Amino acid sequence: MWSDSLLDTIGNTPLVRFQTLGADLPCTLLAKVEFFNPGGSVKDRIAVAMIEDAEAKGLLRPGGTIVEGTSGNTGAGLAIAGIAKGYRCIFTTTDKQSPEKVDVLRALGAEVVVCPTNVAPDDPRSYYSVAERLSNEIPGAFYPNQYDHPANAEAHYRTTGPELWDQTDGRITHFVCGAGTGGTISGTTRFLKEKNPDLKTVGVDPYGSVYHAYFHTGEFKESEIYPYATEGVGEDILAGNMDFEIVDDYVQVDDGTSMRMTRRLAREEGMFVGQSCGMAVAGALDWLDAHRDELTEDDIVVVLLPDSGFRYLSKTYNDEWMRRNGFLQEPAALTLDGVLA
Ligand code: PMP
Repeated sequence: MWSDSLLDTIGNTPLVRFQTLGADLPCTLLAKVEFFNPGGSVKDRIAVAMIEDAEAKGLLRPGGTIVEGTSGNTGAGLAIAGIAKGYRCIFTTTDKQSPEKVDVLRALGAEVVVCPTNVAPDDPRSYYSVAERLSNEIPGAFYPNQYDHPANAEAHYRTTGPELWDQTDGRITHFVCGAGTGGTISGTTRFLKEKNPDLKTVGVDPYGSVYHAYFHTGEFKESEIYPYATEGVGEDILAGNMDFEIVDDYVQVDDGTSMRMTRRLAREEGMFVGQSCGMAVAGALDWLDAHRDELTEDDIVVVLLPDSGFRYLSKTYNDEWMRRNGFLQEPAALTLDGVLA
């Protein structure tokens, strides 16, 4: 039994029950573990979908170049697909992303331009602007623009949603998910609500992103936008793939809480996952606790965990980085080094 291409192994990721986290809740709490994808994240699903859409429309031809702005995970998916299909890949990213993500993209043969994080999206130096400019300058370049490309949310409508429906025998009642481009939360929810209009979707946002306030007020509040550490989730723009209408509630989690929950997932569940996973789980546990009275043992809650802990070894899983950023509150662990000194 073998796969003809690595691309054929994308999707059909496991759904796993949490062993200790949320054990006091009346419902069943499950994790959709997306690091099982070959590029290590949920974004493999959309990378292939956007490329195949471009091929079908003649926007990407043999030998062409893919130019995209990415926090790292979409880039890994595009790079793997680029290798399989023979495209050059150029990515713009921000200096906020962990060095491991840039290393992964370069390991996969992509060229990476690192741009400043704290500039306005329409600033010519922003990673959005640089991606757009390069795609205009390079002959034969295709700029997927995952923020607005309909194939993004559609890939989740076609794959993530049906997988969750089948894996729970149609019994999923709640879906909890962070959002960057919004493709995952919007596409998955659209499918699930077509099957069960009573399903509830809860979005989780980092403090510093504009989504939470926009959901609750309908206003784009510049005052809500400020730098934060959690990677891959939240935005300072309203992405075209983000459908606020089908989300039922939105909660916010601060960086420190997200980072510490990420580490708990590794230590207590053996789930070595990324920062946005900790954020989503912390948000889910908060929301479920606040709605405890409405939950029953028939409720099945799925939290989507987008990527792997390997991308955050120098950050969330590094005590020094955690302490420097004020995210680690407990005293330094006693190490053998300390004993021998
Ligand atoms: N978590 C991580 C680590 C990501 O890289 C992304 C994609 N930016 C997301 C969550 C959010 O996924 P989406 O873009 O589908 O909203």
